Amino acid sequence: MISLNFIDEKIARQQIVLLDGATGTELEQRGVPMNSAAWSAEAILTAPEIVQAVHEDYIRAGADIITSNSFSLAKHMLIRAGLEAEFQRLNAASVTLALKAREKVANNPVAIAGSIAPTTFCADPRKCYPPLSDAFSWYEQQALILAEAGADLLIIEMIEDITQGSLAVEAAVKTGLPVWLGFSCRRKASGELMLWEFEHTLAEGIKALAPFGGDAALIMHTETRDAAEAFAILSARWHGKRGVYAHSGRFIMPNWQFSNVISPEAYARAAMQWVEMGAHIIGGCCGIGPAHIRLLKEVLS
Ligand SMILES: [Zn+2]
Repeated sequence: MISLNFIDEKIARQQIVLLDGATGTELEQRGVPMNSAAWSAEAILTAPEIVQAVHEDYIRAGADIITSNSFSLAKHMLIRAGLEAEFQRLNAASVTLALKAREKVANNPVAIAGSIAPTTFCADPRKCYPPLSDAFSWYEQQALILAEAGADLLIIEMIEDITQGSLAVEAAVKTGLPVWLGFSCRRKASGELMLWEFEHTLAEGIKALAPFGGDAALIMHTETRDAAEAFAILSARWHGKRGVYAHSGRFIMPNWQFSNVISPEAYARAAMQWVEMGAHIIGGCCGIGPAHIRLLKEVLS
């Protein structure tokens, strides 16, 4: 574990903290087959060298923080993929690969964020969330494995459901590591920005999760074109460290569709707007790769 003081120091100097881009969709770009039930989970077993290479490329591009490839390693996802027995090993290995990448190529401090996603890959997520009797303990187990393997912070990605999201945040906070909250939203036909589950507004979701003790909050896995409005909603309700890592393209399980993915130049222009609105942390989600992060590094420095 490294000290995260460099992150707060950067923010105090009014510099932007740069996150990496997507891990899962970048693996797909490099030809790693995606699992039909648990998306990028198996890459840890089938293509560890490519997972490590993706982390290395983000560090070389200038990322201050890289994210473990554990988005799809929540216990409820692995159970559906028949990989439950690998829960401990895959989660620990996801952090080990990020640590190896850091040791090999980092010349500056780089933090490792352990990713935990209280979401599902099911058309009707309510059928696939962990049962309420087990959810807290499953998220807690994953958080502890990631922490013990060497994650410097935990990031709860794709907060789309208030109940599952708050259980995951509460479990992660128990490890004592800083916990970052990643809210995902999309636009209703009526125009309103909703949490991804479409039942609560983004504003309601942020209000509900804020008391659980996160260290930073971000808009993530949200269309790039919606991110500025979403970030304004976040900024009105979250006064601590905050930021954006948006996506571009769309998901047809188990593959991200890259046609029409935003160019690095256009993404950097969008990011400058988020910075002007007060974002401290910027990165990229699905569809956003090392070329986008490299240009962000240039533009934001
Ligand atoms: Zn995403």
